[in-house]
Amino acid sequence: SSLYRIDGWGAPYFFANSSGNISVRPHGNNTLPHQDIDLLKLVAKVTDPKQTGGLGLQLPVIVRFPDVLKNRLECLQSAFDFAVQSQGYESHYQGVYPVKCNQNRFVVEDIVRFGSQFRFGLEAGSKPEILLAMSCLCKGNNEAFLICNGFKDAEYVSLALMGRKLALKTVIVLEQEEELDLVIDLSHKMNVRPVIGLRAKLRTKHSGHFGSTSGEKGKFGLTTTQIVRVVRKLSEACMLDCLQLLHFHIGSQIPSTSLLSDGVSEAAQLYCELVRLGANMKVIDIGGGLGIDYDGSKSGESDLSVAYTLEEYAEAVVASVRFVCERRSVKHPVICSESGRAIVSHHSVLIFEAVSTVNHQADRDDIQFLLEGDDYEEMYSAVMRGDQERCLLYVDKLKQRCVEGFKDGVLSIEQLASVDGLCEWVLKAIGGSDPVQTYNINLSVFTSVPDLWGIEQLFPIVPIHKLDQKPGTRGVLSDLTCDSDGKIDKFIGGESTLPLHELESGGGRYFLGMFLGGAYEEALGGVHNLFGGPSVVRVLQSDGPHGFAVTRAVPGQSSADVLRGMQHEPEMMFETLKHRAEEVMHTKGGGEGEDVDEFGNVAACLDRSFHNMPYLATEEVL
Ligand code: PLP
Repeated sequence: SSLYRIDGWGAPYFFANSSGNISVRPHGNNTLPHQDIDLLKLVAKVTDPKQTGGLGLQLPVIVRFPDVLKNRLECLQSAFDFAVQSQGYESHYQGVYPVKCNQNRFVVEDIVRFGSQFRFGLEAGSKPEILLAMSCLCKGNNEAFLICNGFKDAEYVSLALMGRKLALKTVIVLEQEEELDLVIDLSHKMNVRPVIGLRAKLRTKHSGHFGSTSGEKGKFGLTTTQIVRVVRKLSEACMLDCLQLLHFHIGSQIPSTSLLSDGVSEAAQLYCELVRLGANMKVIDIGGGLGIDYDGSKSGESDLSVAYTLEEYAEAVVASVRFVCERRSVKHPVICSESGRAIVSHHSVLIFEAVSTVNHQADRDDIQFLLEGDDYEEMYSAVMRGDQERCLLYVDKLKQRCVEGFKDGVLSIEQLASVDGLCEWVLKAIGGSDPVQTYNINLSVFTSVPDLWGIEQLFPIVPIHKLDQKPGTRGVLSDLTCDSDGKIDKFIGGESTLPLHELESGGGRYFLGMFLGGAYEEALGGVHNLFGGPSVVRVLQSDGPHGFAVTRAVPGQSSADVLRGMQHEPEMMFETLKHRAEEVMHTKGGGEGEDVDEFGNVAACLDRSFHNMPYLATEEVL
């Protein structure tokens, strides 16, 4: 397992067990070892319809572990509670979960439920997000914040104001100066006293990929000049008491606590200035940015890793706010954070299958037509001498000459194939052939790992079994889409290949897991080539024979589902095709009974194809 650095990025939730499979310990270190969940056993249960209680779902599958969410929330809260206590901070931490990281109903409901004891709230950035956040928080703690970020129109502002009528703690965070007029106007019309926050554009700049949000030229937030104008305007409208929260976000994956402290200190100064200007300040909301160590290096040297623990993060935040407020004799604010990545990344595992490898080997028969050539003789003796440089040169020359011959129509396809075979033989003989195999995976990168394609974000990818066997080869992964970008050829640790086991010729299956992808990937994924969302199961620990129970199982989007998303009408398509079959089969003649049989087969085959997922199907599914 050290090959894949599992201990580095996986602890305390994922590790290789004594059978060579990956096990999940959903409560982290609080779990008893006999309650570990073996991912291979779980896949068998989820996919195999013949197993007792088997679900017969198609891969790929996202496995959600709500207990991991619970543990992440508890760890975040206790890190801040400890920092507050040990530093004598005179207020508390009260976080929110930014739903954009994963808006799935069960993820959000679980977070609200688990976070209720900590008054944990939600953050929304659009109208559907505020709708879902409002309805979920109705079942949560009344003290929980609902932070309303993002671009706002009158409808959004009205929803947020309505939240207050429903006794939810909605805070309208101004991202644009123009939003203030809407808030003032609508709050009068709706007769609601709003709670207003403002998002500041800080000067502190995070230089990594996610840092484009930060700095004076960042995309979001109010400049210093705008903040001064907003305060003045609120004061003129006799609403300065409504301004209670200062928000900033310097970008995701903040690499170090020194940058964090810098940003938080600048924001704390701003907070104190707002207090001085007469605002009724209560909360400092430090945004997201709490990072994940995707490569297990804990170095903070790239966007893939951060050089701090949860505890160190919390300690740095509390210390910075406390230091500035004490110097300015300002009452300590409630500290809110909008950590998304840090809460949901670990909670799900994407499991998919490598189905075949691309065979580069050509046959080396029928080389008679080459035997006369000097090139062949020379190449042969170079191979015998083990002269690698010469061989490579000859291979190059021979290939070039033969391809030209093929283009001129002098060489047949069989002869060209033989040349390829010969060259492959030579390269193998001198140890110059490419040892990297291409594994075809039953997955779409665009649907399931969009950040890999979009921003070259890497996630740990590991076989979920056979970890007690030495991988025999190294490979890159090629997905199902007809797109050359649909590949994975960069891996954590700066590797361009992944150690992999040879596929068994007898049809033994080979399952891979992609880890730490619980944030952003599900919402960002598209339907390139009409590959839709994977199956999803929700898994809890249990005392049963497997140590787990599947509490929800939803098949992935069917071909009909994805077609519907593109305005096709699968039911009508089915009828059209059935009608065509009816017509064709009747006009073709043949025995009555045969016709009926064949028509039945065609209809059943079409029906199955609409209802199955678009991914490659195994025997059981067909
Ligand atoms: N809050 C805001 C305003 C954001 O823009 C983001 C993400 O970009 C987050 C919170 C979540 O950040 P993270 O996932 O780094 O916790």
